[in-house]
Amino acid sequence: MILIVDDNPDNIYSLQKLLESKNFKVDTAHSGEEALKKILKYNYALIILDVQMPDMDGFEVAENIAGFSKTKETPIIFLSAVNTDKRFITKGYDSGGLDYVTKPVDPDILMLKVKTFYRLYEQTQALKDIQQALEMEVERRKQAQLELRSKVDYLHTLLESLPQIAFTCDHLGNIGFVNGRWFQFSDSENTFPQTHPDDRSIMAELQESLESGKPLEMEVRVKKRDESGYSYQLLRVWPILENGENNWVGTFTDIDAQKKAEQEKDEFLSIASHELKTPLTSIKAYMQLLDRKLSLDKNCPEAKYVGRVQDQVGKLNSLITDLLDISKIDNGKLRINKKVFSLERMVQNAIDSIVQTHDQSNMELYRQGDISGLMVYGDEIRLEQVLVNFLTNAYKYAAGTEKVIVDCSVMTDVVKVSVIDFGIGIPENKLSEVFDKFYRVEETSFDFQGLGIGLYICSEIIRSHQGTIAVESSAGKGATFYFTLPLNLPTDAE
Ligand code: ADP
Repeated sequence: MILIVDDNPDNIYSLQKLLESKNFKVDTAHSGEEALKKILKYNYALIILDVQMPDMDGFEVAENIAGFSKTKETPIIFLSAVNTDKRFITKGYDSGGLDYVTKPVDPDILMLKVKTFYRLYEQTQALKDIQQALEMEVERRKQAQLELRSKVDYLHTLLESLPQIAFTCDHLGNIGFVNGRWFQFSDSENTFPQTHPDDRSIMAELQESLESGKPLEMEVRVKKRDESGYSYQLLRVWPILENGENNWVGTFTDIDAQKKAEQEKDEFLSIASHELKTPLTSIKAYMQLLDRKLSLDKNCPEAKYVGRVQDQVGKLNSLITDLLDISKIDNGKLRINKKVFSLERMVQNAIDSIVQTHDQSNMELYRQGDISGLMVYGDEIRLEQVLVNFLTNAYKYAAGTEKVIVDCSVMTDVVKVSVIDFGIGIPENKLSEVFDKFYRVEETSFDFQGLGIGLYICSEIIRSHQGTIAVESSAGKGATFYFTLPLNLPTDAE
């Protein structure tokens, strides 16, 4: 906006019209005092100032304007009757733009000067805006840096207070911060603790995580500085945002006692199942002998008792066999003897043995899908064990329902064998755990006997056949357990 200051209303009127015709916004003042009040209150891009005014003349107004920091840079065009000496008008006003136009005003000359000053004003204004934005940006960054610093300090204090060994590292694996406990295991804050020669290298594992961006979790044996042996630690490294970059925070948690207890438990299971297996095999053999020797009438009570003893011995036997399998899996000694065999024969054998052992059940077993003539490569006995396990579970967890279905479907490069039952089903949030060792669905574990190891063994067997194992189910809606096997036969298979 331009301010015109003149005591003569006619002059003001004509100047105002002239400027407004060129699209400038205009304000007016009829005296020096009024001009000063307005100048202090509003911002003007330019002041057109009549020199000769009663009371306070144009020069006095200009001197006053020069005295205020807010206004001292506002350009002024003096209007004077005579060609005023420039040295005089710049007195006390040397920082702002100054010019003059003699009266009578030549509109073209005045507009030329107004436009020049106005452009200057706009450019100065734009520069000021940029400067202000820059200052704000600098301030914002300073603030962000301060906040970041305090977050980093907070994180370091947290890591210091942990009972674990804790550290941070950058995206290249360079260690940044380590807490006090670190030095129990490493004598330098730049190197990871020494690990057992048989364990995977921390640096190699970490490098993989850093590249993939995925958290690292590994069990590793590390050496304490003042001890000769190694202790089991759970190393976890997670990505965090620090200094605007993806940095990582890691902890070593001592799991040595837990590991030792686990090993002792595994050893105990292995020894106990071995020791139990021998007398049980004798009991089984003697029971069969007794059964044959007595040749009892099938309907007499004694024959039923003998039958029940044999059933129970059979159950005990399969329990102990499962426990033995578990210890074999734990020691990496579960043997898989792969051969090419008829899948149909394996499925039918599994069904026959299940139907035989569940002759009291009213459940009907149906088959779907034709696999006659289909040959697969694998351990027939172990795969039959998987199917028998699926079926035993179906008879157990769907007892009282009418049917169970065994479905075999051949796909492009795999065959899928499913057991579909219509029993109690499994809640969806538990599905991912049913193949875990010793896992049993809590809600139903009291109603059914079991150890929660059958499906774990099944998953290990299928894994060693490069197949997949899974379950689809929801509570009360039955369950479909299935496994798939690759169909490609090795060229050198028997
Ligand atoms: P177990 O049956 O001896 O407990 P498994 O490893 O065979 O052990 O099964 C693990 C758990 O999965 C079972 O305890 C049971 O909760 C659940 N489960 C397995 N099969 C079925 C099924 N067909 N229907 C419902 N729940 C099942």
